[in-house]
Amino acid sequence: MTGLWLYQRLDRLRFLNYRGKIMVTAFLGTHVPLLAIVVLMLLLTSPDFSTTVWVLSVALVATLVGTAVTLYVLNELLKPIRATAKSLRDYIGRRVMPQLPGNFRDEVGVLMADTNFTVERLDETIRQLEFSDPETGLPNRAALEQALAKKIGTATESKPVAIVAIHIGNLRSILAASGGDAGIEVLRTLVLRLHRYPLNDGLVARVDSDALALLVPDAADVAALEGTVRRVLADLREPLSVGTLQIAPTITAGIALAPADGNDPRDLVARAMAAATNPEEDAPARGFHFHSVAAANDLLGRWRIEADLRVAIDRGDFELHYQPVISRSSGKTVGAEALIRWRHPEQGLIAPGLFIPIAEESGLIDGLGRWVMTDACNQIRSWRAAGLQAPRISVNLSARQFQDKSVDAWIAGTLKQAGLEPSALEVEITESAAMRDLDYAVETLGRLRAMGMLVALDDFGTGYSSLTYLKALPIDVLKIDQAFVRNIGGDGGNAAICGAVIALARGLGLQVIAEGVEEEAELAWLEDKGCDLFQGFYFARPMPAEAFGQRLLTRAA
Ligand code: C2E
Ligand code: MG
Ligand code: MG
Repeated sequence: MTGLWLYQRLDRLRFLNYRGKIMVTAFLGTHVPLLAIVVLMLLLTSPDFSTTVWVLSVALVATLVGTAVTLYVLNELLKPIRATAKSLRDYIGRRVMPQLPGNFRDEVGVLMADTNFTVERLDETIRQLEFSDPETGLPNRAALEQALAKKIGTATESKPVAIVAIHIGNLRSILAASGGDAGIEVLRTLVLRLHRYPLNDGLVARVDSDALALLVPDAADVAALEGTVRRVLADLREPLSVGTLQIAPTITAGIALAPADGNDPRDLVARAMAAATNPEEDAPARGFHFHSVAAANDLLGRWRIEADLRVAIDRGDFELHYQPVISRSSGKTVGAEALIRWRHPEQGLIAPGLFIPIAEESGLIDGLGRWVMTDACNQIRSWRAAGLQAPRISVNLSARQFQDKSVDAWIAGTLKQAGLEPSALEVEITESAAMRDLDYAVETLGRLRAMGMLVALDDFGTGYSSLTYLKALPIDVLKIDQAFVRNIGGDGGNAAICGAVIALARGLGLQVIAEGVEEEAELAWLEDKGCDLFQGFYFARPMPAEAFGQRLLTRAA
């Protein structure tokens, strides 16, 4: 800037601040008349002493009064500048907004008003950068955490607040492949789809480059929330086109609840995101996962469930439902899977996804698993006693049950007690349980098969097993996880996986069952690829033993 020559020189006087410089200048300036008089008096040839003293005294008093008034007024005039400087420092240091008066009209008055205005605008911009995602304009993770913090205060066990994290598995590769444009377009379309669901007081935020999250302030009805999340997921997975590209978003979700899963907003968002990206092992393939089992249980909380489970096991408050496995070529029911249900005295029928993981973590699964096996065997026997030809019945073994070294012995004991031959039974273990310790799995499954049982690898496709391992495992059946069957016509990825699994199973001489078939189109696609065995709502839902017996009766007749 030009014209600051003198200011630059004066600025070098480090021992004086701005106010000091003005004050010293004013002091010296106002003393020029006095100094001039002193010099003049000294130069006069015959000074009259008393006149000199009188003149000097008057000049001195006048100068001092004038100086005092000048300094006082200057000091007052400088106050707005000092206040402006202090306000700016407070904003920079502590983000305190300036509250300078705006009713003065000279340049300094304008400076104060402009400072207020400029800092407000600046702060708004900073806030936008801090709390919103520039690509979508959505609130970002920090904004979500801030909003969540406000809601957590009033959340209770019976009126929890939920964070639903939504992870778009293939977004990073779309972003990378398209230089960002298609990825952002996908994201915007998904956000539009999300906004179809009324959120009341909640919000949609972008919490990571490939993740969105919903804040649901009132999640009192966790079952309803679960239903909504299912619908949202189905909606988001619908293929979309960007330019000439057809994209099928691969979506997973995770839910965390406050206060059940904690009260720290950062922690809760992180938990929901972790649940969306790292589905818990053995979690049922429902396309989304609660961050913890406790979160899935609305009013009760984990400990209460565990206590209730103990009582229920003692009382036998469980029942097995049976879901048929259909062979399309013969049109026959060639098997059925036994699926446990808990008949809770207050909550009615509870699905296994809500209590099997708790039973597994707490060790209660040992007793429960034995009950399942015993009940399934007894049921086969009573169907036979009633003259019905029961197909092979498959029973799920959890990871922990399978790790129990005496698993083959107790299953053999149960079969014997019921008077059944081992071939009446099929055991299902999940792919992830089998892969935990391959040597152990090979040996144990080998023993079960040697006894005459069939062995199925459940939820295949979710456990990342290598093909070499698969070849080593002594199994008879591969069950394709329902997550891969969903949307099979539209989702390129799912179609490729199902096609490959069917071809693989055939190559290895295994039977393959497609789970979770709901639509005619899914069935047609799978059949076309050579799959013959199906289990899904399209054919039949899991049903009580009596209904399944009835079905056997009518089909046989
Ligand atoms: P799974 O072994 O993969 O069982 C199949 C699940 O898919 C069942 O859920 C069944 O109801 C559901 N399903 C079948 N067809 C369809 C369909 O067309 N659409 C949809 N959306 N779902 C379908 P369920 O009964 O809730 O069981 C969930 C999981 O709980 C089972 O998954 C299994 O891992 C576990 N589980 C069930 N019973 C037992 C048991 O006795 N012991 C152990 N350890 N785990 C069990
Ligand atoms: Mg199963
Ligand atoms: Mg399964």
